[in-house]
Amino acid sequence: MPAARARQVSRPKAEPRSAQPSSPARCDILKAPVFQDLPWLVHGFSTRYGGVSIPPYVTSKRGELNLGQVKWDTAASIAENRRQFIEALPAKKFQLLTLNQIHSDLLRSYGAEGANAKASNSDSPCRDSLRGDGQITAQPGLLLSILSADCLPILIADTRQRVVAAIHAGWRGTLRRIAQKGVGRMMMLHGSRPEDLRVAIGPGIRACCFEVGEDVLRAFESQFNQSMKLFALPPERERPFAERHALMYRNVIKYPLLEKPKKYHLDLVMANVSQLTEVGIAAKNIWTAAPCTHCHPRQFFSHRRDALRAGRMMSVIGIRP
Ligand SMILES: [Zn+2]
Repeated sequence: MPAARARQVSRPKAEPRSAQPSSPARCDILKAPVFQDLPWLVHGFSTRYGGVSIPPYVTSKRGELNLGQVKWDTAASIAENRRQFIEALPAKKFQLLTLNQIHSDLLRSYGAEGANAKASNSDSPCRDSLRGDGQITAQPGLLLSILSADCLPILIADTRQRVVAAIHAGWRGTLRRIAQKGVGRMMMLHGSRPEDLRVAIGPGIRACCFEVGEDVLRAFESQFNQSMKLFALPPERERPFAERHALMYRNVIKYPLLEKPKKYHLDLVMANVSQLTEVGIAAKNIWTAAPCTHCHPRQFFSHRRDALRAGRMMSVIGIRP
């Protein structure tokens, strides 16, 4: 074991799928308290609640709010779900901008030409979008969006200059410091100051459930000082008996072929918070209380949990026109 701190993570109990309510569809949107006193701002994180999509192998016939292109859903359902989501925000006067997300550190910024940017909108969810994983604008009327089903959606607002950003940060984007680069771009293009920035990190997979291999641990180690703080061992009961009672086994001959590869739990939220505080954003201005997508099957899609049956949530931020 590397010098990782043997911090244990406890796994919250998952809710049983059978507990799904059959109540009528209504979009349930998470809002971040950190943005609540900004009347010029529109934002929200979607959940599974609402919509008309029926994911495969789901017994309940309750419609679900899948907002991204996935193999099991139709373009018509996605368009209707986006319409419902936009109406519920409400953000009907906005132009929705999506990205073709590729787990990169590629950022897109939109100026006054934003309305003409090659981007999809609520009427045509399947039209090709620009490639990238972050969007920035100071232009009112544009609704920046991130699609996710475990990766972290990060929304940023500059309260002085009125600039907004939406960032997609999975482990690859986090490794490439996309959140930090997003803030850097806001400073460069719009004169943003870290002390004026507020950040909301939306629902994503948390350290309780985000198991990664040694390769990811090594990659983070090569890029970050103190990277070991970001990793924890799996919950005690999931580790092999011999590893939990290493002293008892210290004289036993090791058979490397029988050893399972080690697993670690990565704390993506902590990784992004430390990138953001590193550039000067106060921790009190970063909201991180959104739930774990993997632990809450009723509320959220999770790619880790549901693989190809998972839908996509959408996180949006925009300046009122
Ligand atoms: Zn979890």
